[in-house]
Amino acid sequence: MSAKPMSSRVSLPRLPYAVALALFAALPWLPVNGFYLFLAQTYFYTCIAVIGLNLLLGLSGQMSLGQGGFYALGAYGSALAALKLGWPVPLAILAGTLVAAISGGIVGVFALRTRGLYLAMTTLAVGYIINILAQRWVSVTGGAMGMTNVPQMDFGFPKMEPVVFFYFTGIALFLVQLVSDFIVQSRLGRNLRAIRESEVFAASVGVEVSRWKAGIFAYAAALAGLAGACFAHQSAYVGSDAFSVSLSVAFLIAAVVGGLGTRSGPLLGTAILMGIVEIIAGIDKYGLLIYGGVLLVVLLAFPKGAAGILAALVARLTRGTHGVAGTADATAPLPYVLGPADTCALTQIHASRTSLTINGISKSYFGLKAVDRVSVDVRPGTVHGLIGPNGAGKSTIINMVAGVFAADEGTIFLGPQDISSMGIAARARLGLARTFQNLQLIEGVTVVDNVMLGIARQGSTFADFRCWITGGALEGAERREALAILDFLGIGRLADRLPGELPYGHRKLLELARAIAQRPHVLLLDEPIAGINSQEALEIAQVIGKLRGLGMTILLVEHNMEFVMSVCDEISVLNFGKLIARGTPGEIQRNPDVIEAYLGSGAKA
Ligand code: ADP
Ligand code: MG
Repeated sequence: MSAKPMSSRVSLPRLPYAVALALFAALPWLPVNGFYLFLAQTYFYTCIAVIGLNLLLGLSGQMSLGQGGFYALGAYGSALAALKLGWPVPLAILAGTLVAAISGGIVGVFALRTRGLYLAMTTLAVGYIINILAQRWVSVTGGAMGMTNVPQMDFGFPKMEPVVFFYFTGIALFLVQLVSDFIVQSRLGRNLRAIRESEVFAASVGVEVSRWKAGIFAYAAALAGLAGACFAHQSAYVGSDAFSVSLSVAFLIAAVVGGLGTRSGPLLGTAILMGIVEIIAGIDKYGLLIYGGVLLVVLLAFPKGAAGILAALVARLTRGTHGVAGTADATAPLPYVLGPADTCALTQIHASRTSLTINGISKSYFGLKAVDRVSVDVRPGTVHGLIGPNGAGKSTIINMVAGVFAADEGTIFLGPQDISSMGIAARARLGLARTFQNLQLIEGVTVVDNVMLGIARQGSTFADFRCWITGGALEGAERREALAILDFLGIGRLADRLPGELPYGHRKLLELARAIAQRPHVLLLDEPIAGINSQEALEIAQVIGKLRGLGMTILLVEHNMEFVMSVCDEISVLNFGKLIARGTPGEIQRNPDVIEAYLGSGAKA
């Protein structure tokens, strides 16, 4: 992690790729024998499978114990296409990869509702079923006897076959690693990481969660299938014994040991895994035990895996040359100077003075009526406060407006549009943004990346990729806009920090920055100053004033009376799920019902 402020440029790390290419080119002059070539091929395609699982688990947080099954589908698909249909090997490999991808997509769609342990069980079952099919469907797969004479790949150079296949698998890994690198660093990785933090959170920044989950599932399955297809053509033999559940476990261990969600993790983890397999003979008997032991040690001692250890070593070695790391002290008090509201990024916010109309919405939790026919009319370009004691139903209203829960009755309009039956992401794309009472941030990426999560895509993903691959800064325009928003909030110098390094008040500001980055027309703030000091509260009050000045409509929930009275144009008061008053701050302060129910008699002397 760079400690230099404003250096948050992300571009292609060229050195590792240059080294890999140099090794490739040098191969014909190196004294390698067939065994090493075979090992290298195996390493290359195993890495491909592990990269897929690393993206699936490390970024989107979805656990799969069925990658061995997709690997088998790739192997059988490709072997059958080559043997029975007589397709050329590259085409057969493509077919095997596609079979695995489609199957992965289908499993992904069916597994959408399950997560964590249940998803692990579901995928374990899928892998198991595929393995049983491979054993029993002898007429197609040959069962345990398998299929022999699977054609190999020599592109017309039969004597050079191992070298040809070395280059094929090596180039495949090179490309897969390149794309994976891009995914980890780009918008794609950000969206997947948001899903891992929380699906509601991801949807509220406009990510279509189910599509993304199924998509990454299919991609990981495709990579497992590609690896399986390579395996089939490497050994010229495919038998069902190769695809037991322990293969899925081995992929998982390689991903975890290497370092989940890191770019070099799969390369390191696969090397360690193969090292263990090579060193210990009789792996069939004790293999899983040893894998399990390694997994346990790594999980306990090095949660970031081999890639994490390597990064720490590199950081230690380079510390001397780069001066003192981390001089920007995150805990130092903020310079309470707001940037000018017309900094380049913020002039792009043209909130369109949209009204938010809540008509008689209700919500019961197990018979408890948390919200009872509440109507709130937030006029365009105003700040409306929703106040009431703890448990009054304020967060429930925010969640119904954002789409987290459907209202039991009533309607919600954004401007002229009825959004009552829309999903969270659809509402977000219409210009509704929110903050959460319990902060929602992506912990594993920098502050500026968190803000970029909110920023709308300015070019296509392909254009981003092309720019990145030619050495340009990834999403430069979006990054500049995110930095400008951070500057506007006075925390630009923390752009390259991790959210976890920031004190609570700054984390609140960061969440607000992300919401602003969504360029909302209507902004929902759930307790924006809870848990922060009065200086920071003053800061946020100023920001809210400026946002209103930009035409934003704001509905905010807050406990702090003084704050609500100072920033709101109008206030609605909620008690036990029912609306008891509505008016300007002055009217609310004088309202006897409010004084009685909320402020408590005598609170307003
Ligand atoms: P507020 O934000 O005003 O403090 P909430 O909207 O969080 O209030 O809660 C309103 C009522 O609904 C409370 O009595 C709370 O216990 C209940 N409640 C909130 N969320 C849930 C839930 N997910 N399941 C069951 N009851 C809930
Ligand atoms: Mg609440």
